[in-house]
Amino acid sequence: MQLSTVSEKTTDHLLHALTEIVESSNQDLIQENANVDGQSPMGQMSKFASETAKHYAKTEMLSEEVTEAIEANFIHPHDLDFMPTGTTTCCQIPLGAILKGGFNTGHGYMREPNDICSAMALSSIIFQSNQNMQHGGQSYPMFDYDLAPYVHKTHRKHLKRLRSYPTKWTDTEIDELAWKETDRDVYQACEAFIHNCNSMHSRGGGQVPFVSINYGTDTSPEGRLLIDNLLRATKAGLGNGETPIFPIQIFKMKKGTNYEPGEPNYDLYQLALETTAKRLFPNFSFIDSSVNVQHYDGTPESEVSYMGCRTRVMANRHGDDNSIQRGNLSFTSINLVKIALTSQTKDQFFDKLGYYTDLVVKQLLERYAFQVKKQAQHFSFLYGQNVWKNSEDLAPTDTLEEVLKQGTLSVGFIGLAEALVALIGEHHGESDEAYDLGYEIVSFMRSRVDAAADTNDLNFSLIATPAEGLSGKFTKRDQETFGKIPGVTERTFYTNSFHVPVYYNIRAIDKIKREGAFHKLCNGGHISYIECDGDVSKNTKALDVLVKSMAANDFGYGSINHPVDRCMECGYTGIIDNECPKCHTSDDEKVERIRRITGYLVGDMKKWNTAKRAEESQRVKHQQSANLKDALSDSGASGPADFGGTEVSEAGTLGAKRSTCGDLRHREPETSESISGENTNLANESNGRFACE
Ligand SMILES: [Zn+2]
Repeated sequence: MQLSTVSEKTTDHLLHALTEIVESSNQDLIQENANVDGQSPMGQMSKFASETAKHYAKTEMLSEEVTEAIEANFIHPHDLDFMPTGTTTCCQIPLGAILKGGFNTGHGYMREPNDICSAMALSSIIFQSNQNMQHGGQSYPMFDYDLAPYVHKTHRKHLKRLRSYPTKWTDTEIDELAWKETDRDVYQACEAFIHNCNSMHSRGGGQVPFVSINYGTDTSPEGRLLIDNLLRATKAGLGNGETPIFPIQIFKMKKGTNYEPGEPNYDLYQLALETTAKRLFPNFSFIDSSVNVQHYDGTPESEVSYMGCRTRVMANRHGDDNSIQRGNLSFTSINLVKIALTSQTKDQFFDKLGYYTDLVVKQLLERYAFQVKKQAQHFSFLYGQNVWKNSEDLAPTDTLEEVLKQGTLSVGFIGLAEALVALIGEHHGESDEAYDLGYEIVSFMRSRVDAAADTNDLNFSLIATPAEGLSGKFTKRDQETFGKIPGVTERTFYTNSFHVPVYYNIRAIDKIKREGAFHKLCNGGHISYIECDGDVSKNTKALDVLVKSMAANDFGYGSINHPVDRCMECGYTGIIDNECPKCHTSDDEKVERIRRITGYLVGDMKKWNTAKRAEESQRVKHQQSANLKDALSDSGASGPADFGGTEVSEAGTLGAKRSTCGDLRHREPETSESISGENTNLANESNGRFACE
């Protein structure tokens, strides 16, 4: 393909896209991002900018070979619209260090806070400030450890004040009272923090920052008090009881700390289960998994921390193996399905896969070469406030070669399942042969990526792509070329990364086993979802079993999906089928249904793009008997007996709009009461049924 042809094509495309924004005529374009109202003025302006910048990147910045591969639908560089700005994706922010010295937002200096309320208010501001520096997510890797000193300060303040009163209280009484007042302050601080995360706008386009927090292992009284209150405030929800969309919360599981009864933070883990049952967060990460334990040296800093969507940054060729002050620089995904569809033999497939993996490496390097030429002063908060590793050594006009090598460059992939069907007629949920080939494919990519890391002495990694915007794009183009091939291109979406397809019936435990094996291969990030169809809020033991099964099957990071509905008429939160159980309204417009897309919660399905809507509507729910005892004896976890009614549905999305699709055969609302308390025999309960994403 000639460059001039590409250029003309993209110019036409640009004008067409701008018109579609003006007319709001293309849902997929204006709702590429489900967290933005694409029809609002700032949403539109942001979209104009995005389409124009993408055009610039395509015509002026990418090399010919790369442009051809994009045009031919083999690869997709993510956030291409941000390429001309030289931004990087995300960062794990050293909250403790920034609070300790105070910081400058660019509009004024913030002193070190003296209590937890100020500390958490500033935590929101740090998120907001850094979000304007980057195009991906923002995360705190050790939220409990970093904020515990401010809980301590708050307690000291209360002690001092109480001691100044002329009373006959004993020291013990004063101390107890001080803790009680601290507890109240911490709750209010957590409540305010959550509200801030769901209301402060950033990124200039009417979006709240994409923020995540990792916690769960600090066993100090202060750290524990913080997480206890954070979870309780999350459970309580926002002002009208709404489910908070942000921050994405990640509870770090660690044997000896919070895994079994008797361990110091086991109670917080139990509270985390109750909270996720009601609010879909926290997710769970696993420090002891093979991919994460290799970097763990006993310090909080070496505990794995994830960006909520799944990005993981740990290994480091240029410093300590941890996430702190580091993040992803950019990532690009490979369309495995197209490679499979254009290969006659397995060998040809691997040849092509090798070619496109290497090409993506080349493209990431080209983007990197542009990124490092930016100056520290262009990203005043990220580098001026020492958010990014080693940036304290930079002068404002210094370029970024020395600091950006701390980040990762990631190769991603989409549609392993459909690629396998194209190659051998089955996907990795269906047969061991397909599973082995799937494992071979992902291992092949990983070894190629590792080789690129050695050759270039940069932190290349393999990421299991979160495919929100991309899931439909690749598929639509391939359908135009190949038509609707059963099991391959017949749907409007490809399955995320290594996930077993959403439309395939498989026992939850089998899905956990099949997907768990892929986590360690995807060192740049991974997540698997287990979906429960039913009200799990009264059965946290079942959730405990799921989390333990994830741990036993070497998950790095997992999450549990289940329906969370809220009646906007009366505020009822729970499962709402055809009518609200409390006020009996049957108006579906009055029901908010929270669902998860590629790791982020979305409250309004009107903002979903077509592919995601299709994915959701095509989820097939099936019931199969599954015995938890077998599952657990296989997996090494321990827990209650039968695990029945296992079902599997789509990855990344929660339950269907049950009231509108009328698919209620799996649930009888009245049984939700019966699975409360000690009854963990899910086989008998229609409500305890499990499905995997
Ligand atoms: Zn109601």
